[in-house]
Amino acid sequence: MEEDPERGLSAIGQALVILGDQWVLLILQRAFVLRVRTFAGWRDRLPIADSVLASRLKELVGHEVLTPVAHREGRTRHEYRLTPRGLDTWSLLVAIHSWERDWTGGMCPSLIHESCGGEARPYLACGECGKPVSARDTETVRGPHATFAGIGPPRRRRRTARADAGTDAFGYRPESMEILGDRWSTTVLAAALLGTRRFVEFQSELGIAPSVLTDRLRRFVGRGVLRQSDGDYRLTEKGLAFFEVFAFLVHWAQREFTAPPGSGLTITHRPCGAALAPVLACAVCTRPLHRHDVRFLPVPAGFAGPDLVSAGSPTVLISSRPTRACP
Ligand SMILES: [Zn+2]
Ligand SMILES: [Zn+2]
Repeated sequence: MEEDPERGLSAIGQALVILGDQWVLLILQRAFVLRVRTFAGWRDRLPIADSVLASRLKELVGHEVLTPVAHREGRTRHEYRLTPRGLDTWSLLVAIHSWERDWTGGMCPSLIHESCGGEARPYLACGECGKPVSARDTETVRGPHATFAGIGPPRRRRRTARADAGTDAFGYRPESMEILGDRWSTTVLAAALLGTRRFVEFQSELGIAPSVLTDRLRRFVGRGVLRQSDGDYRLTEKGLAFFEVFAFLVHWAQREFTAPPGSGLTITHRPCGAALAPVLACAVCTRPLHRHDVRFLPVPAGFAGPDLVSAGSPTVLISSRPTRACP
């Protein structure tokens, strides 16, 4: 048995190791939205090299996010299904779309809440009191185990997200993939959301090479996610809005990686005093959104590939058509 190199990582660290990668996010997003289940399905819908796709699928199986199910069609092949751990990333993936809708000013798909029939425009709400939550309504207490130590460098990859990786109507926008698309970027952003401000603090906190840190900070400043002030790097409103994604990342980490050292983080919703259990709520009816109760508009005839009809549990569909300019 191989020694697990991620043993001893904090829960947040483990989550970032798994999800801090643009290909992983895009593979999961296609699995939810287009119900892609096969190697060929992802290969046909992502501009990804076969070897990269194979390695990501192997990692996702290793991390128990996907599970391979063998079935016979002439020769044996595998279908990859989302495990409960994989299904649990749904809110986080939708939250990325919400951030894009609010902050990137581009085209975005509409999400329909089946229960009320309205356009959901999901927002972060508190599972306890039901009120909307922003970073400023919360208090985060960080224990000694809430570290990023040992996360290590990202996989070898292109330095910037491929412009064509997220530009179809199903995918994420290149801007969010640049911000979330590799482990260091995601980790720098997470550290900023936990209050890290100064270059040397990022450096000692993350154990990151100065040149890599300089590159990520410059990129975030360029994207308007951080601003420089008296030598500090501070989150802008656009950066603070990533709290929504971060809250789901932390919640996922806390649920999935319960072994010591745990997450070491407590996020409290100040108005009600409860530990934050984040939910996505519908802007029309304010009720929580559930994976089975929403849809992106149906995939038009002629677009649907064979994978679309081999439906698994998620019931989210998306259309190639219903994108529109975000207000
Ligand atoms: Zn609350
Ligand atoms: Zn609704």
